[in-house]
Amino acid sequence: MIITNGKIVTWGDPNEILEGQALLVQDGLIQAIEEEANLRSAHPEEEILDAQGQIVMPGLICAHTHFYGAFSRGMAIPGEPSRNFQEILANLWWKLDKGLDEDGVRYSALALLADATRYGCTTLFDHHASPSCIDGSLDIEAEAVNQSGLRASLCYEVTDRDGEEKALAGIRENGRFISGVEAGKYGDMLKAHFGLHASLTVKPATLEKCLAENNGRAGFHSHAAEGIVDQEDSLSKYGKRVVERFADAGILGEKTILAHGVHVTPHEIDLLAQSGTWLSHQPRSNMNNAVGVVPVEEMLRQGVKVCLGNDGFSNAMWQEWFFAYLLQKDHQADPRAMNGYDVIRLAVENNSRLATQTWGGLRIGKMEKGAAADIIFVDYHPITPMHAGNLPWHILFGFRDGLVTTTIAGGKILMKNRELLYLDETEIAAKATEAAIRCWEKVKTY
Ligand SMILES: [Zn+2]
Repeated sequence: MIITNGKIVTWGDPNEILEGQALLVQDGLIQAIEEEANLRSAHPEEEILDAQGQIVMPGLICAHTHFYGAFSRGMAIPGEPSRNFQEILANLWWKLDKGLDEDGVRYSALALLADATRYGCTTLFDHHASPSCIDGSLDIEAEAVNQSGLRASLCYEVTDRDGEEKALAGIRENGRFISGVEAGKYGDMLKAHFGLHASLTVKPATLEKCLAENNGRAGFHSHAAEGIVDQEDSLSKYGKRVVERFADAGILGEKTILAHGVHVTPHEIDLLAQSGTWLSHQPRSNMNNAVGVVPVEEMLRQGVKVCLGNDGFSNAMWQEWFFAYLLQKDHQADPRAMNGYDVIRLAVENNSRLATQTWGGLRIGKMEKGAAADIIFVDYHPITPMHAGNLPWHILFGFRDGLVTTTIAGGKILMKNRELLYLDETEIAAKATEAAIRCWEKVKTY
């Protein structure tokens, strides 16, 4: 198809907003960006998709999420309100994920994939746990992802919190899924990481088994130093801090994603930078759990590849951008903290690099010849001058997720004029609600 009549945000270096240009999309890729008349005359057979003056830009990317987070929405958590992060894990997350059955895995995923499509988030890095149905759970998620047409890398959160048998099942599930991805079983839109829950729930022997099963194939995806409890646990058991423990074990590296890194020392920041490990930041989740504030700017200064994720909150990623921007200013009591370009380094540049690496060099998150055709239309009409230089602030203060009208991933139109073409949101919401009720009932018994 040829996409005409848009203001094309390239997210190139330097960023540009192109007018009077059109995009040629073929075989899932952007094959050309040229003057509309040239493209039309060279490719008269191509279908025309008229952007009607909207912003046309790369789809958003989320570096760390949990589809199962969907079922926490509106949930009454049994017992006294949690006083700290450890209690939040024990009272909410470790019961919620245990309450998931197969339909719970499927419909929590579909619910957040519908949300992602609607909000233009076309690439997601999911971190999955369902201790009551581990075997095959990543296949259920993969089916949901393929039904949605979006792009996702999946993994299972290995943990010792439910005993050795379930830890081993988690290891097998990662290994099996990684082999399937390598064999092309799930198609081009699915990739794999090797999941670990967090240092505090993974024993040394389990970590060794994970390394052996993975055998250098995929990057790891784990929480790290999200709450102070993770550091206290590691220091008391191993005499070293979480990132030091992961570094010594061989978990860090160019392909590994660590989520959070709230409580890290300068030495741990140095280890992240030297090893080339991705560090995903989730400000909304950190604020909600009251765990503290990530030293994002210090990490960027030291060369850490800081990305942006949402930790299972809604895939309205521009909200996450805005919280990333506001939180540092408030926390540091300095309005100069975290400017718009810093947010772009996380949410656009580093997320794009992470996705590009994960998809084997296929350029994701950019509008250029040869890049993946992951494209959204945004019905935004500025009330002040807008250009490439001030675009970050237009996005932060003006873009809202409901302004996304069309979502395309891998060259396939998934939402057109706000209508989802492959997911039935009404049916998904009904089925998700049924599964959530079952899950919440089980949670009461744990
Ligand atoms: Zn998380």
